[in-house]
Amino acid sequence: MKKVNKMISVLVSLMLVVTMLFGTSSVWAHEMCMNGSEPVVLKWINKNESGTFYYTKVNSDNLGSDSMYHDNYQAAVNMWTNSPTKALSQVTDFTISNVDLYTDSAYNWYTTERLSKDTLAYTILYDTNYNMIYKTNEQAINSTKEIIYAKIMFNPNHKNNSMYDGLDEALQTSAIAHEIGHVYTLGHSNTIYEVLPSSIPSIMKASVHEASTYIAQHDIDDMNIKY
Ligand SMILES: [Zn+2]
Repeated sequence: MKKVNKMISVLVSLMLVVTMLFGTSSVWAHEMCMNGSEPVVLKWINKNESGTFYYTKVNSDNLGSDSMYHDNYQAAVNMWTNSPTKALSQVTDFTISNVDLYTDSAYNWYTTERLSKDTLAYTILYDTNYNMIYKTNEQAINSTKEIIYAKIMFNPNHKNNSMYDGLDEALQTSAIAHEIGHVYTLGHSNTIYEVLPSSIPSIMKASVHEASTYIAQHDIDDMNIKY
């Protein structure tokens, strides 16, 4: 037992030296929530049958029938499956999905959540006790930190919103892929504790107009740090 502990401590020391020598990759991925100055590390824990991939099974039955996101979510799901990460994302039936897309009600969007007309979407994570994480750091801190289900809520009023009329197909797709990034518990890459320079592309930037329309190397690195 002692020998094992010593080996582990030697290994950890070695890893620290390697990190210091070649330390271009950061220790943390961008997380969604903070506990003081430390990130709260959440993880999506559903895996596929072989246990190799972190599996999101995405369903759109609860999107409003006029939602502009219907036609683009297969492409967004494919972006994650085709990325060189452990993400596997598939379009599935509502009965077996673990990520459901919703068009929110106007009442919930504006009155309950007090969201703006320019916000595209938000993601609610559910931990293994089925507690929600989407609003406050405390929700994440008090959670099991293991995420098993998510809802992606889309703005109900895109048809009457001048900003959305200008949202082309590539941006619609990347907005969905961005939210799936949140399902994998990635935080915004340009807002929390490490501000990504504007020259470095990332689909996880807070604004759809600043974010890349593809899963960028920075996002792949964040995923590979987490998983
Ligand atoms: Zn976001």
